[in-house]
Amino acid sequence: VEHCLARIEATEPKVRALITVMGDEALKQAEALDAAGPDPSKPLWGVPMVLKDLLTTKGVRTTCGSRILENFVPFYDATAVARLKEAGAVFIGKANMDEFAMGSSTENSAFFMTANPWDVERVPGGSSGGSGATVAAGQCFGALGTDTGGSIRTPSSFCGIVGLKPTYGRISRFGLIAYGSSLDQIGPMTRSVEDAARLLQVMAGHDPKDSTSVDVEVPDYLAALGREDLKGVRIGLPEEYWGEGLDAEVKEACRAAVAEMEKLGAVTVPVKLALTEYAIATYYIIAMAEASSNLSRFDGVRFGYRNKKAEELIDMYTASRTEGFGDEVQRRIIMGTYVLSSGYYDAYYNKAAKVRRLLRQDFDKAFEQCDLIAGPVCPTTAFVTGDKADPLQMYLMDIFTISANLAGIPAMSLPVGLGRDSHMPVGLQLMGPAFSEQAMLSVAERLE
Ligand code: GLN
Repeated sequence: VEHCLARIEATEPKVRALITVMGDEALKQAEALDAAGPDPSKPLWGVPMVLKDLLTTKGVRTTCGSRILENFVPFYDATAVARLKEAGAVFIGKANMDEFAMGSSTENSAFFMTANPWDVERVPGGSSGGSGATVAAGQCFGALGTDTGGSIRTPSSFCGIVGLKPTYGRISRFGLIAYGSSLDQIGPMTRSVEDAARLLQVMAGHDPKDSTSVDVEVPDYLAALGREDLKGVRIGLPEEYWGEGLDAEVKEACRAAVAEMEKLGAVTVPVKLALTEYAIATYYIIAMAEASSNLSRFDGVRFGYRNKKAEELIDMYTASRTEGFGDEVQRRIIMGTYVLSSGYYDAYYNKAAKVRRLLRQDFDKAFEQCDLIAGPVCPTTAFVTGDKADPLQMYLMDIFTISANLAGIPAMSLPVGLGRDSHMPVGLQLMGPAFSEQAMLSVAERLE
């Protein structure tokens, strides 16, 4: 813990990954663990970790990257947080993020931008950019991110670390401040596949406090690691993920990783994900609709920031929300409200829900032909800060990541080298059928 706190002090002036550093509490917690002595029942005994700042932490400020929650101190721990704590993890900080997890670069944080530790002129990805940067900068041994449409995988890819978005329902969302409730998942962001497996092991499993958490047995994720080859593994390559719009250097690094899989005995098969071109439109309709509903609770009465000058109730709501939410969040609340309003509901929200089901069926069909799907995480490597000022351009960065959330399936980002031109990390994405994390982790580990 001392080492990590020193590393934070040395690197934070440039990286700015953390909104809150929990130095004193962390040292106290570590001392208590030391005093009690090593405990084999605590698999994360003394491991310094960082949490994305939308996971509620008892007694520790949880901002969601937003002014509206700038001084919000929850009185309970998220289930994932409580389970890690129970396993002996020591939390040393809360990571910066795009406000309410809306973004792909962490430039939408209400507080400050985070830099990519590989090149501080560039973004770390988002929305869990602080989590990606803190792991890549060696400030901690693992972090938690959340992924609604790519927010674990994009920063993992941009920062050259391992990131796993589990199957929807695998990890409890209790205490995760909701963005798109039918899409959100918590997951590990780590230096190695084995570390990701260890964190998943501790967090996975049913939680009575989250009705969407699934009561499916949690396998031994570590037991499957250590395979010698990839014989018998069928890797699906969707042409929609490998064609137009993909930067040459990303394609090259990902292709090399697939070639490596083939050398290890995997067979590749072409698969079709024909609805990929509609995924962005579908995702943004659903995500914004759910966001507009989820964010209605921030009214200046029960949580967070309140404008104290307004004299009437409605004025107080309006002023608090206008001052508390940033531009991107307001844009999405307005769009989400629009697609849910009567007269437009059928044309937009209902249509998107139908396309979502078809997209899911495409994955089912693809997984009849293969065990895992491989493709890029992002069309490019980390871009220069300010380069994607147009929100639509930013949304296009999510083309390869959002389908997994719409389908509810697990997906991960695995570092596979540096881009030839940008010299920035490239992530390979693996996707699998629901609850195939074990197989996915074992294949990923063999590629490390
Ligand atoms: N970039 C996507 C969005 O802004 C995904 C974000 C996320 O996964 N939280 O909605």
